[in-house]
Amino acid sequence: MAIVKLAELLARDEVIAFLRGVVASGRPGNAYLFHGPAGVGKGTAALAFARALLCEGGAAGAPHAAPSLFDAPAPAAPAPVADAPRDDACGHCAACLKTGALAHPDLRLLFPVSGEEKELDATVAETLAAMRTDPLFVCQYEKAASIRLSLTRDLLRDLAFRPFEAARRVVVVRDADRMREDQYSALLKTLEEPGATTVWILTTSRPARLPATIRSRCQRVRFAALAEPVIARFLAERAKLPATPARVLAALSAGSLGRALVLREMDPIALRDEALALLEPAVRGDAAGLWKASQAFAKFGRAGRETLRRAIEFHQLWLRDLLRASCGAPREALIHRDREAEISWCWRRCCARSKATSRPTSRCSRASRGSPASGPARAPGRRTPPRGGITETARECYAPVRLDSSSGIPGAVHSRTGRRGSARRRARIRQRMIRRRWPA
Ligand SMILES: [Zn+2]
Repeated sequence: MAIVKLAELLARDEVIAFLRGVVASGRPGNAYLFHGPAGVGKGTAALAFARALLCEGGAAGAPHAAPSLFDAPAPAAPAPVADAPRDDACGHCAACLKTGALAHPDLRLLFPVSGEEKELDATVAETLAAMRTDPLFVCQYEKAASIRLSLTRDLLRDLAFRPFEAARRVVVVRDADRMREDQYSALLKTLEEPGATTVWILTTSRPARLPATIRSRCQRVRFAALAEPVIARFLAERAKLPATPARVLAALSAGSLGRALVLREMDPIALRDEALALLEPAVRGDAAGLWKASQAFAKFGRAGRETLRRAIEFHQLWLRDLLRASCGAPREALIHRDREAEISWCWRRCCARSKATSRPTSRCSRASRGSPASGPARAPGRRTPPRGGITETARECYAPVRLDSSSGIPGAVHSRTGRRGSARRRARIRQRMIRRRWPA
């Protein structure tokens, strides 16, 4: 995970402006809640915000909370760094170097962990080491992973002391919705504490799972999904992916850069070709071949569900390209532009098939299309069901008349096809209804 500055965040103009304004003011709030879809950069933004708050240069370096009479003397504020931005981290002071290595004593991290309690320290250290070393690290958790109670207790015990080096302490809680109720209660006390020297930054992709008492005490910062070109450019420039896989991954990620980074290790082009191979017998009309090909995707378990879901997503992207091609979109708008010839062939085949199966819409032609068993062609407009077997089209033609319950008028009738009957027929049915309801 890259520890960046606020100015280096991806396509977050409004969020960056807000956070830089907070840093420049030098008076951050007690708690912030970064919420939005998973993998859109909430954790990266939280670390960048924390880095800017802990930077020794600029406005954030000076303490603003007046100490009380009985407080211990505050640590001496470091001298401001020359040419340091007042609303962002400078990137080269001692505090920035420490936060860049996740080694600042006043920056605390809480994140969900899975595994046994006795291996907790090793798991946390391993995750932190991966975050330091891999700039493209993506936090992934098991379903049962949670923010451990023991880690929360340790953190709350440390919060009773003053910050070690900086004017304030920053606590980043990733996926804060993975906590227990008693942890939220303990957090609530510290969030409500006025004049505290701790700034809480909570991130979540499921804000509704947080208690309302926590949400109401946080300033909410919303993170929207990233645009496809932004993700494709990031994958091409930072992850060094070729243009075609980067484009396919950007479309497949649905705005989540984290998901694109995870999928990049799975050879997306091979996955796409495998998923689209399932469509070939369907396009040919080969039912037996389609059944045989679909059996390869019928795997049980979580891995099987993920494979099937990815295949369906690839099919959706293929259909999206077909729709775009049908509307005359340029080649640059297609995700699978490397398979443009197949998209054109599929679209022409769909057009030909829809023309072949389209029904005539005139009433005379519909009425004359009875089944062979229904005898000679009937006169146009006659609505008597045939005696023999009827085809589906004839069934629609001779649909029984029903009442329109929405209008509430007993005489308002129409056929199943939506065509109203003649005035004489409507009058006859209305009289019949009146006789049934109010017999003489
Ligand atoms: Zn700095």
